[in-house]
Amino acid sequence: MSQSVLQLSTSDMNQMKSYYASYMKEKTPQGAIFAAKLPRCSITAYRSGKVLFQGANHSQEANKWGKVNKTAVKQTTAKQATPTRYTPSPHLFTSSHAGSDEAGTGDYFGPITVACAYIQESQIDTLKRIGVRDSKHLKDPEIQQIARKIVEMGIPYSLVVLRNEKYNVLQKRGWSQGKMKTMLHHYAYKKLCTKLEAVPEGWIIDQFAQPDVYKRHLASEKASLPANTYFLTKAESYSIAVATGSIIARSAFVKQMNNLSKEAGMELPKGASKYVDQAAATLIQTHGDDALKRYAKVHFANTDKAYKLIP
Ligand code: MG
Repeated sequence: MSQSVLQLSTSDMNQMKSYYASYMKEKTPQGAIFAAKLPRCSITAYRSGKVLFQGANHSQEANKWGKVNKTAVKQTTAKQATPTRYTPSPHLFTSSHAGSDEAGTGDYFGPITVACAYIQESQIDTLKRIGVRDSKHLKDPEIQQIARKIVEMGIPYSLVVLRNEKYNVLQKRGWSQGKMKTMLHHYAYKKLCTKLEAVPEGWIIDQFAQPDVYKRHLASEKASLPANTYFLTKAESYSIAVATGSIIARSAFVKQMNNLSKEAGMELPKGASKYVDQAAATLIQTHGDDALKRYAKVHFANTDKAYKLIP
């Protein structure tokens, strides 16, 4: 999430406290003097003099106090490690480029989906207008709606789905999730290039591994990193192509989950919570042990917890 940070004097903070008096929250985090919740911005002021502005209006609100520490803002907004040769130039965010992201990696039930989208410079504003942003901040129905609009716009994208059976086989074979994700992003990109019949100006991956680790995974499958591949953490906040990929991937994941639930004849919950353990236990009881392989990432701790729930 983007945020602004100010370093203020005690008197400034007191002034701020009375200014936001009607927005004060009852509970304050540890070390905080006050916390305020405005319609489009949350403010937390710490004893150290640090004031954090978060939410859509973070910079507008922080600028009211006129002392925004530019370095602090830049660092906390980007929160990126030192740039490497794989860090995209900010110029790429505003020009035509490809981006990819995945969904389903933390969910016990259901596949991993990876989508790679190619966005032309002229489409960036429209995509922002229809609500394309980090899918983590969107509810499933919104995601489905935006995904439909993306398709209507004719945005070229590719989608790869790693179903549970295959996932479990690869996992048993010693593949880490990192390696699976690497190969899925790689296939998604290759698929996109085939569709485009061209190579995008640049490809941004929502970073889940260090570039060197990613490259090692590729090498172990005799693949190599395409030219102009970039890595960035929280990339969906910077790149509309990654954000588009994240929405398509999430939307596909939701669809797959609906299908799997229908097939299983029961609701398969997302995530990896205790509801998931319970559902897994029910699934085992109604469909037998083997069913898990078809519906779940069996190496997750949820499997053991599910068996413990079966009398
Ligand atoms: Mg991601």
